[in-house]
Amino acid sequence: MTTEKTECRICGKQAVQGRSFCSSGCALAAKIPLGDKALPVSLPLCLALISFFILFNQDLFATMHALGKSLDKASLLPKFQVASYVFGILWTANAIYFFAIAGIWRWSDRFVLAACVAVAFLPRIFLSIQWPYLYTFSIANTLMAIWLARGLLPLWRSRKNVKSD
Ligand SMILES: [Zn+2]
Repeated sequence: MTTEKTECRICGKQAVQGRSFCSSGCALAAKIPLGDKALPVSLPLCLALISFFILFNQDLFATMHALGKSLDKASLLPKFQVASYVFGILWTANAIYFFAIAGIWRWSDRFVLAACVAVAFLPRIFLSIQWPYLYTFSIANTLMAIWLARGLLPLWRSRKNVKSD
């Protein structure tokens, strides 16, 4: 039985056994080409930007819904609601795709996924917080995005940690 320990290629922490990375965040961050291989516009970078754009729109329309409510603009609320849900569903599909590429190997990934579902549904069911699901859905997706994007921080801090194969 081998107990070979490898370092995560992105952050330098101990990688999961049999993998090159410590987490899904680092596995995703490694998809973004850097250094000599990086082009001004690469496909992974485009996907990351599109993903950010979708999430931004979900949050934007949720915020506009909240603002519209406080300003008594009832006629606009259904449109903001639909727009936020559409972008939210798109982003959730996008997150599932990202998790599929990165692989869900660690308990922490499963825990965060479960926590995001809890954030989306539990406040309204158990805490009798009367926010529409639109807001909690938006918060849950944002938390998931932060979780998935966390590998970008060590990547940004120290690009030299990326070792090319
Ligand atoms: Zn790592």
